[in-house]
Amino acid sequence: MTTATAASPITVLLVEDNPGDARLILELLGEVQTQAFDLERVERLDHALTRLSRTGVDVVLLDLGLPDSQGLETFMRARRGAPDEPIVVISGLDDERLALEAVRSGAQDYLVKGRIEGHLLARVLRYAVERKRGEEALRASEAHHRTILENIGDAVFIADPQGRYLDVNPRACELTGYSRDELLQLTVSDTYPAQDRDAAALRIVDVAGGRAAVTERPLLRKDGAILVVESNARRLPDGRLLGAVRDITERKRLEEQLRQAQKMEAVGRLAGGVAHDFNNVLTAIFGYADLLNEELPEGHQARQDLDEIRKAAQRASSLTRQLLAFSRQQVLQPMVLSLNDLVEDIQNMLVRLIGEDVQLRLGLSPSAGNVRADAGQIQQVLMNLVVNARDAMPTGGKLLVETANTELTEQYAEAHQPVAPGAYVMLAVSDTGSGMDAETKARIFEPFFTTKEKGRGTGLGLSTVYGIVKQSGGYVWVYSEPGRGTTFKIYLPRVDEPAEPLAPPQREARTLTGTEIILLAEDDEMLRPLSKGLLERLGYRVLEAENAIRALALADAHAGPIHLLVADVVMPGGSGRELARRLAHSRPDTRVLYVSGYTDDAIVHHGMLEPGLNFLQKPFTPAALARKVRDVLDAPLT
Ligand code: ADP
Ligand code: MG
Repeated sequence: MTTATAASPITVLLVEDNPGDARLILELLGEVQTQAFDLERVERLDHALTRLSRTGVDVVLLDLGLPDSQGLETFMRARRGAPDEPIVVISGLDDERLALEAVRSGAQDYLVKGRIEGHLLARVLRYAVERKRGEEALRASEAHHRTILENIGDAVFIADPQGRYLDVNPRACELTGYSRDELLQLTVSDTYPAQDRDAAALRIVDVAGGRAAVTERPLLRKDGAILVVESNARRLPDGRLLGAVRDITERKRLEEQLRQAQKMEAVGRLAGGVAHDFNNVLTAIFGYADLLNEELPEGHQARQDLDEIRKAAQRASSLTRQLLAFSRQQVLQPMVLSLNDLVEDIQNMLVRLIGEDVQLRLGLSPSAGNVRADAGQIQQVLMNLVVNARDAMPTGGKLLVETANTELTEQYAEAHQPVAPGAYVMLAVSDTGSGMDAETKARIFEPFFTTKEKGRGTGLGLSTVYGIVKQSGGYVWVYSEPGRGTTFKIYLPRVDEPAEPLAPPQREARTLTGTEIILLAEDDEMLRPLSKGLLERLGYRVLEAENAIRALALADAHAGPIHLLVADVVMPGGSGRELARRLAHSRPDTRVLYVSGYTDDAIVHHGMLEPGLNFLQKPFTPAALARKVRDVLDAPLT
């Protein structure tokens, strides 16, 4: 607040028609030594108003009884004409009530004729000026605070102790979707969802009782949407409640996403570790079951039991594969692939899967481009989606499988993080089934999440889909509403290369035996003798080694040719890859077959097998080993 300095004179406009009174005032002011006054006098109100419209004065000294105006009316008109000047009213002896009324209407002070005395007059004038300046400073400061309130990033709510809104800033209107006028009709509880109103009431009591707190709370918007906000509420010194509220919906969403990703990673790591060991165990089960089977005479009772063992191992193996797939640790063997070919290739199987009540329709765009992916894995994706669609239509319905080229634009990518814009091929599976609510939709890609009864769902289908699609550099989106069916859309990056033909059906009639010499490097004590035995039964000669160093020593000591190295990739003391590289120096003609069940190794980069390598996925059956070994030995040299 500024104060009038004694040095600068105070300019006074005296509006007084009585020359005697005017002279008296002039004289009185002249006697004051501590403050100089510049006095100017007019006799009529209209003159005063004209004078004030030119330039301002510090203070107006106004007689209420003038030739052109009388009583309170005089003051009202003067104030309208000079809204910025402090006005001190002079009244007659008999009319102090009138003077008081003028003060109530905004006059700074009043003087009563006949009782005016020098120092009093000077003080009244000086105070009038200072009070007016104070008021202006206060107004400016209020405007300043209002500006801050209107521009601050937080939504600000001021409420009475019962929670009724008294004031809000524009951000509060934006946040809630209500206009200011609407908000001033509401209470704090009205911005809570119905089920949280009790909590709201308690909170109001808490804050009103001076127990200030920062809390996270749901905020119900006018349009029914619910945000998560952080609310910092406290009681103001005058008892009103102040709440500064910030929208943290997006932050919460990201936190949740991160938590989810961490959970997936932990589960994935665990699954990968388990699956790795499991693959060796399962290979042994497959192998010994087959060996035993052959020892038993045709028609032996125990052969059926062995079949059951093999089926159980098959199921365990498909479960391990899913575990690896959703944790993106499956070894993908990518090729340039036409999704149209792929869909048509397994169409018959899909029809069998969905049964008679569901109608399958294909909408394959003839111009749909190619993608680089593992055909077997994409088939798995399609089958998982189709099986889910079937389960969602227990009484029948329609199933649509589509392909199309899509360009994902910058805008699309922005709205669908973490999509990278570019050219994609879309594979969509739509059904007319039960659909899902938002809560289910939010969790479907979690491993082991299922809404199906025990024994029917494993909850691995969609997490596998997600893992495979992610590992293939693609994206998956779901569109669904309860009762309105579901569409899954998968986007895989388009490649500008001709598609390779899908693997032809296995020619099982060919002979799978041989007499070549095979160097077998496998560290697993259970698998090594098994693989050796299987290969020897097929007629091969096998040199076995439990690690890379031993294998190299054997190769050195061996005089004749070695036709094939069968190497486990992950071995202590040197990978199969390293072994093959070293062996290639001395024996460039030796072919190599890698065996592994895991992406975390030397032949796989970002989950993709290096092109040009021969690879057998663990767990394998004796038949698969026999086929693969023959394939590699018979392949033309490149
Ligand atoms: P599962 O099929 O073993 O339950 P999934 O991971 O394949 O596991 O699917 C998880 C859940 O997602 C299902 O239990 C189901 O609630 C929901 N879901 C998946 N696909 C659909 C669909 N097409 N329509 C309705 N709900 C679906
Ligand atoms: Mg499923």
